[in-house]
Amino acid sequence: MRGSVRLGSILGVPIILNLSWFFTFAFVTLILGLRVYPDVFKDSSPWLPWAMAVASGLLFFASILTHEMAHSLIARAYGIPVKGITLFIFGGVSQITKEAARPLVEFIMAFAGPATSVLLSGLFLGLWWLTGGGDDQPLPVMWEWLWLMNLGLGVFNLAPGFPMDGGRILRSFLWGVTGNYRKATLWASRCGQGMAYLLMLVGFASLVRLVPWFEPASGLWLVVLGMFLEGAARQSWRQTEVLEALRVYRAADALSPSCPTVDAGLTLSEVAATPAAQVRPFCLFVTEQERVVGLLSPVALLKVPRSRWSTMTAGEAMTPAARVHVVRQDEDAASILQAMDAEEMPCLPVVEDGRLLGYVSRDAVLRLVARHQQLNV
Ligand SMILES: [Zn+2]
Repeated sequence: MRGSVRLGSILGVPIILNLSWFFTFAFVTLILGLRVYPDVFKDSSPWLPWAMAVASGLLFFASILTHEMAHSLIARAYGIPVKGITLFIFGGVSQITKEAARPLVEFIMAFAGPATSVLLSGLFLGLWWLTGGGDDQPLPVMWEWLWLMNLGLGVFNLAPGFPMDGGRILRSFLWGVTGNYRKATLWASRCGQGMAYLLMLVGFASLVRLVPWFEPASGLWLVVLGMFLEGAARQSWRQTEVLEALRVYRAADALSPSCPTVDAGLTLSEVAATPAAQVRPFCLFVTEQERVVGLLSPVALLKVPRSRWSTMTAGEAMTPAARVHVVRQDEDAASILQAMDAEEMPCLPVVEDGRLLGYVSRDAVLRLVARHQQLNV
């Protein structure tokens, strides 16, 4: 996502904050500061309701983060690499780089999120009870708001529209019953699109005041959320179609035998001037005494500020060979594309019995998709 900053990592999972998150955070804080807390802080200083609103907003986003951590930790426990968790305008999303291999794993991975939200809801309900309950004291009001929000989050995410958690649960059932991953994804995505249109419809009806129990501002929010979910459902289906098409191809079908190389001792300015770096997106094999020691991708190059290009070498900026996914000749093209996306590499080396045969580029893999589509029209 553009406009994102890495905050750090929790249990080895990188946490990324997209700037759009501030919009939602401001919205939540404003509602709490203007509507919820002024009533319980009648006689105190005016900044107290706002301090409480900010604290509640932060705890709510910590709850969303915990929900996403549950998805990510389960994925990792089943050997699926997680790129990170991004907090953004619509809450949070775990960037899980591969789909589950079995319906049961998909079910557990999807269910872990809403289950965590419901558990958190119970925890906040307990805190509400421990602090005396009621709705005229600041702390119980905050705990009450948090248990309701977490319960809402858990229930909303269980709605059966792919790619939401409930949609993934639905897909895992359909997949388990029919044994057909592609069909299960198609049906779950259609449900996702249907749900998104329903959200837009309810949102629009609230905007023109046809639905009395939603405010027009919430209506606008529902329309935007519906549009986002509709796009996400369509994109997820398209992605599944691409990966399914690629499963019939092997690395050998997209192999380029000659690898563009640069010497590890070259500075990044010198690398940028080489003919091989003029091809976009380039992928350079970094060599030391004719042995490949790593890969240099445009992402790695652009991470280095230009002011340092004249002093930093290719060997320092590269991704070391040990950390690069090595492709086998018979590996299917779908798993290669997923590895490229996970590692942000536009190409990966193909190695057999310790010998470098060449490389597979993202462009070559995508050309296979185009070829497959031409053959199947
Ligand atoms: Zn979730």
